[in-house]
Amino acid sequence: HAKVSGRNQYQFFSKDMNAKARSRLDLEARLRRALANEEFAVFYQPKVRAADSRIVGAEALVRWLDPDKGLVSPGEFIPVAEETGLIEPIGAWVLRRSCQQTKGWQEDGLMPVKVSVNVSPRQFRSRTLLEMVTGILAETGLDPRWLELEITESMLMNDVEAAVRKMTALRDLGLGLSIDDFGTGYSSLSYLGRFPITTLKIDRAFISDVDTNPKTAEIARAIIGLSRGLNLEVVAEGAEVENHVTFLRENGCDTVQGYYYSRPVPADQFEQMLAVGVLHHS
Ligand code: C2E
Ligand code: MG
Ligand code: MG
Ligand code: MG
Repeated sequence: HAKVSGRNQYQFFSKDMNAKARSRLDLEARLRRALANEEFAVFYQPKVRAADSRIVGAEALVRWLDPDKGLVSPGEFIPVAEETGLIEPIGAWVLRRSCQQTKGWQEDGLMPVKVSVNVSPRQFRSRTLLEMVTGILAETGLDPRWLELEITESMLMNDVEAAVRKMTALRDLGLGLSIDDFGTGYSSLSYLGRFPITTLKIDRAFISDVDTNPKTAEIARAIIGLSRGLNLEVVAEGAEVENHVTFLRENGCDTVQGYYYSRPVPADQFEQMLAVGVLHHS
């Protein structure tokens, strides 16, 4: 009897696994098609200078316009892209597109702003990362000082020496490096001084209750102070309400990003925002 039920369980498990594997394979195939058919788009979320609400940059965020399923968010496909290696061509596409569009806005005489592009763990580990970035900068003609790459702490901790070498080579190109989601990774403050970074980006987990939780507020203040002390730019992500922005402004956070100002928007819409130059809340 036990054997029978054991087998039933096994069959159930195996069916479930098959379904999972099938949907993963299906997603992988659709992602390959998406690459070939250019079904991706870059959306831009403005970064605003807290002091005067001027747009100083944007984060480039990939979107997938699936002809069958509509707009798919990165949370749904980046993990599979990462596992299958498709993140490398997708990531290169996002970087190329972001640099092209940013250069295009500059050529149109719009106020120059910095574009921040996310780099995944697998992209960061790739031996061709430096070559890829160098090639795209040359191809698009974007001055590297208008490019920033966002990486996360966890990518840096496996092999700190190698990470420092890689980051140094990237910085030598003239671009900026930001630690994304700061405070949520394997935060090792002892290494922070060794990483050749330009920016700390406070995770939105700390921003969401700065106005209601005194301890969170104290942590946010500490991160802002740490950035100042290390001479880094500090960006807050996930500012959703006026109280968040007021807190950040009063506590010396340079740059703010979040739904309070704007959601990520398609390129043409971001271009219209750039033409105005300042943002008030959305
Ligand atoms: P991230 O790099 O931390 O990007 C910030 C995420 O927070 C974005 O989600 C953005 O839409 C969202 N966000 C911004 N402001 C607010 C706010 O005020 N409230 C809330 N609740 N959320 C806010 P999105 O676009 O869905 O991207 C999710 C993650 O996917 C990104 O997190 C990043 O890790 C990854 N990702 C997005 N685009 C790319 C890409 O081109 N390449 C790679 N490797 N990863 C990407
Ligand atoms: Mg990011
Ligand atoms: Mg982030
Ligand atoms: Mg995040």
